[in-house]
Amino acid sequence: MVGSSGAEAIEPKEIVEALFGFVDKAVAPLEDKHRDLLEDPARIFDERGLTSPEYQDVSRQVRELSAEAGFYTLYGAEELGGANLSATGIVAVQEAMHHKYRPDRILVHESVIPSPFTNGLSPLLLELNPQLLAERIDAIRDGVATLCFALSEPDAGSDVFNLRTKANPVEGGWMINGQKQWISNAAHASHAFVFAVTDPDAVRERRGGITCFFVDTDTEGFSVDTGIPMMGSRGSNATIISLTDVRVSPQQIVGEEGAALRLALGGISRGRLTMSATCVGLARWALDMAVEYANARRTFGRAIGEHQMIQAKLADMAMEIYLCHSAVLRTAEMVDAGRASIKETSIVKARCTEMVGKVLDEAIQVHGGLGLTNELGLEAGYRYARMLRIPDGTSEIQRRTIAKRLLRGDLDL
Ligand SMILES: Cc1cc2nc3c(=O)[nH]c(=O)nc-3n(C[C@H](O)[C@H](O)[C@H](O)COP(=O)(O)OP(=O)(O)OC[C@H]3O[C@@H](n4cnc5c(N)ncnc54)[C@H](O)[C@@H]3O)c2cc1C
Repeated sequence: MVGSSGAEAIEPKEIVEALFGFVDKAVAPLEDKHRDLLEDPARIFDERGLTSPEYQDVSRQVRELSAEAGFYTLYGAEELGGANLSATGIVAVQEAMHHKYRPDRILVHESVIPSPFTNGLSPLLLELNPQLLAERIDAIRDGVATLCFALSEPDAGSDVFNLRTKANPVEGGWMINGQKQWISNAAHASHAFVFAVTDPDAVRERRGGITCFFVDTDTEGFSVDTGIPMMGSRGSNATIISLTDVRVSPQQIVGEEGAALRLALGGISRGRLTMSATCVGLARWALDMAVEYANARRTFGRAIGEHQMIQAKLADMAMEIYLCHSAVLRTAEMVDAGRASIKETSIVKARCTEMVGKVLDEAIQVHGGLGLTNELGLEAGYRYARMLRIPDGTSEIQRRTIAKRLLRGDLDL
């Protein structure tokens, strides 16, 4: 068990080994037991494209087991009861999980360790009113209650100053109205971080004016409208939600009124680095698959790995992965050293998400027709990899951030 303190004293390698042991002992039997459910998209998603209560029930069991064993809270701050793993520790764990387990083992990837900022022991919880936090934290830490992060809207994705959701002052607090889109995990979350405009003038001048509220999802007026089917799937974890006259008190403000974007960007930055490590792990899994197949499959009287064109593909994959792995590690070390790493985090997010797409594409090519089938998990990895270039800032937005930093004189590389 990884205790709620002192994870830093444990080497990431030991944590990873313990985590693998946990997955084999606790998650694999649940996967076996619920195989029919997990292989049937019509049971994972309901008719609105939302993850079904049946799937959520198994996911909750995994979360609770993981919390009990100390893995669910690995990335969380010590003040919240987390293991406070360093950035270098987080990227090591994240890479190892995605390297070891095929991408369609959704319970392993979605429920054992939550997203580093939109769910679980999100750092945003540190900014919560102490009494509210005390009332909610146990269930969140134990994996019973989950969270969602409701920033994006139909007209506000990359450009967050285009938010339309408003919180208008009323007696005793605010009233929130608006619609949010792409919100992961909203369907079954107990609480939501809801971002709303509280000072339209400041928003117009792009100098703040957006406030984050911690909202219980059973509050009157909070509703989940639909899931968003995407990439050949009949549903997804992403949802559209509506807020209609949702009343919130001043105690529900997260951080300071009008200063939510700094909070959001801090969280997103953490998400970008973790996602980059996910990409490296997934790409390594695909390379392992490609190498194994290149040694096994024979054409024209020899293993395909003996054809130079296949060798070049494998070598190109390894070159890209090696560089990305090194860059992620270096950026995590910068974060741990408390150094500014906005540019570097954008560099690795853009490069790693693009790299993993190319690697999965080539791994499928090496497998020929077999690569396209559902049997090997490569197509699931390909679809997942393609998705990663959009959330937490698109590739274009990362380049915009990198260029802005360069033009302001941040030329360190
Ligand atoms: C699977 C998934 C899960 C998500 N989960 C969440 C969540 O939990 N919570 C949440 O709040 N949001 C979530 N999002 C939303 C995500 O953050 C947005 O989709 C993303 O920020 C892009 O916004 P958009 O889709 O509106 O695209 P747009 O911002 O409309 O961009 C469209 C295109 O224009 C490009 N573009 C935009 N501005 C510029 C520019 N200045 N220069 C050059 N190119 C530009 C973009 O890169 C993109 O190619 C999720 C999205 C996905 C796909």
